[in-house]
Amino acid sequence: MVDLKYIGHSAFEFKTGDKSILVDPLVSVNPKYDYKAANITDIFITHAHSDHVGQAQEIAKEKKATINAVVEIANKLADKKVKTRPVNLGSWLNYDWGRAIFLPAYHSSSFEDGTYGGIATSILFDIEGVRIFHAGDTCLTPDFKAYKEIYRPNIALLPIGGTYTMDVEHAVVAAEWLGAKTVIPMHYNTFPEIQADLNKFLQLMQVNNTKCCILNPEEIK
Ligand SMILES: [Zn+2]
Repeated sequence: MVDLKYIGHSAFEFKTGDKSILVDPLVSVNPKYDYKAANITDIFITHAHSDHVGQAQEIAKEKKATINAVVEIANKLADKKVKTRPVNLGSWLNYDWGRAIFLPAYHSSSFEDGTYGGIATSILFDIEGVRIFHAGDTCLTPDFKAYKEIYRPNIALLPIGGTYTMDVEHAVVAAEWLGAKTVIPMHYNTFPEIQADLNKFLQLMQVNNTKCCILNPEEIK
């Protein structure tokens, strides 16, 4: 069983057995989430923008967790106290909890100081046979049709806030192209530029028979 928790913005925790994986750990967005209570072994980052790197370094130090990201991000965040696994696009990466693959996202990627952050990514996880696609920040791309054929994702985490990523209408098409039976929206309502109409999203999703779960980070206890 994989236990999926929405922390907020694009941050998720996947718990499998006694281990937890964090993705895009902007945990500061949710004061109710306590990463110290979780046994975090791996942190994944989709791209270098601060709303996705979040508190990765601090958490990696505290939990002795490994930061997994493209080379440019991993090298920038590595220091004596932070373990990293620098990777790039294209192959399955094996872990004791399953495997993951980094895929391209259509977005920019740079650190706050302007340093180049490598290619922006989406990440597909295969944990105990459950395939979870975290789209990162991206526009709609026909790549999703190929992912349906090749990876058959069960759960898709899709940005819907617009301005910097897909909006509601495009995310509905993305859900259909990916073929995931469960879709969880992310990257919306955190700041004014990414306000999304959730009712419209739910309405449009009903048309293609996909289960849409709106997870409320406020509910984390
Ligand atoms: Zn973002």
